[in-house]
Amino acid sequence: MSNYYEVLGISKTASAEEIKKAYRKKALQHHPDKNQGDPKAEKSFKEISEAYEVLSNTQKKDVYDRYGEEGLKGGAGMGGHQGGYSSMDEALRTFMGAFGGGGGGGGNESIFESFFGGGNAPSRGGAQAGSSKKVTITLSFEEAACGTEKEIAISTYQPCASCKGRGSATAEGLKNCKRCQGSGQVVQNRGFFSMSTTCPDCHGEGKIITNPCKDCSGSGRFKDKRKVKVTIPPGVDTGMRLRMAGLGDAGESGGPSGDLYVIMDVQPHPFLKRQDDDITILMPITITEAALGCKKEIPTLSGGVCRLTIPEGTQSGKVLRIRGEGIQNVHAQGKGDLLVTLLVETPEKLTEKQKELLRAFAGIENPSNFPARRSFWEKLKSFFPTASSC
Ligand SMILES: [Zn+2]
Ligand SMILES: [Zn+2]
Repeated sequence: MSNYYEVLGISKTASAEEIKKAYRKKALQHHPDKNQGDPKAEKSFKEISEAYEVLSNTQKKDVYDRYGEEGLKGGAGMGGHQGGYSSMDEALRTFMGAFGGGGGGGGNESIFESFFGGGNAPSRGGAQAGSSKKVTITLSFEEAACGTEKEIAISTYQPCASCKGRGSATAEGLKNCKRCQGSGQVVQNRGFFSMSTTCPDCHGEGKIITNPCKDCSGSGRFKDKRKVKVTIPPGVDTGMRLRMAGLGDAGESGGPSGDLYVIMDVQPHPFLKRQDDDITILMPITITEAALGCKKEIPTLSGGVCRLTIPEGTQSGKVLRIRGEGIQNVHAQGKGDLLVTLLVETPEKLTEKQKELLRAFAGIENPSNFPARRSFWEKLKSFFPTASSC
């Protein structure tokens, strides 16, 4: 075992930062994933990891500086350091420690990503599923309530038609990778452990393309805009999403396609409101309509007309419920109702003639015309005997 400082190529006066930097550089050079099947690289990787493990630990570094490697062997409180990494796992743990979380910042991650190829999980057996797409669709109140059909344009990867997603111009041009025999993974024995890693020859695809398809440059897919018909069922509401299986990106090397998620954004209606599956509407009526009763017709969402009977003596705030004229439940659990809230509108800008008639009416009012008013004043007077209604 050579000197730890020499192993990392640094001087004895190197700072903690310099030690880390030197280790990272060397570890990336000698990492087993980059030097598959090279026992020399594996040995160096273990050595530099061991050197870093000692020199990055102030306590261990201190012992090492004073007594050399001997001082670390079996030393009390040294965590049972035996001198020399026996397993690759230990070395890999040190490696992960130096690159992973814990002091670093964005800079580390970029090294990490470029090293492991985008930070994606290694693919097994080659074919990778395509990613899923999200698309928001704007609907009017009526479209959401009654259902509709929409056409949307999406940009996705689609399987290349020329090579049927193979990536190779001909079927014969696609050969099983010799190194991994088509599995995409190579198994290495490291001490007690056997580790499988992505095959470096075929990058996990399991196949090697000898004559790439010209249309897709061997990727088996290409990006294109396409139109998709979306059938919106009746009863959808803002935030609901519709999954359209297989309409996301095509997979790589013939892998399965991702899905398309259509997210609903329902626009408000000028006078209809939604309350779960019920529709509510506020309907002003005149004082004479409220007092004498009347009939009204209101159009429904289903295109029909609903006849409403407003009885004599209807109070402001009364809610009339019209069964089944609400919104179709999106899970087909029946239909909601239409709730009409009546608002008695007090007349404004009266003419002299109108005022005269109202005054005349007031002269012949009797308390039983206004039961709520009468009971209010009766109650109030029982608490405040001096209260007066005029
Ligand atoms: Zn192609
Ligand atoms: Zn291979």
